[in-house]
Amino acid sequence: MTDQEVHRRLREFVQAYGPPRAPGNPAETASHVLAEVTNHSCGDSVSVSLHPAGQGFSVRVRGCSICRAAAALAEQLIQPTEMGRAQCRAALTYLNGGQPPEEEPAGPDMLHDLALVRHLPARRRCATLPFEALEEALRLQVPQGVPEG
Ligand SMILES: [Zn+2]
Repeated sequence: MTDQEVHRRLREFVQAYGPPRAPGNPAETASHVLAEVTNHSCGDSVSVSLHPAGQGFSVRVRGCSICRAAAALAEQLIQPTEMGRAQCRAALTYLNGGQPPEEEPAGPDMLHDLALVRHLPARRRCATLPFEALEEALRLQVPQGVPEG
């Protein structure tokens, strides 16, 4: 695949997923930020707030279009559970050049277009940042070693 083709398909992905849900819900903006991760090479920054009792999370992005689209996808894919942490790790493995995840919902179909960043090492972290932030937030929020119900 040529670089031009990669960029074209990434643009389509970005347009399809767009920005994450707009901030502005007072409950969301007031919630405690658990994790914030910054990509110092391009200035992208992702922060994650988790709502109590596993009611979900909000992801806020200051960053480029790939980072915003990746955050929107992560919001759709990742559940606020220990399983969600595993999904984050599987997505990170894939985006960083490893094997695609075996199980839905973070399966290869959903991540396939975002994984085009595998061809663009300089942009790879733009795509991984939201998953890194979510993994960190879930690590802090979800008790260790508690089995899924
Ligand atoms: Zn970026």
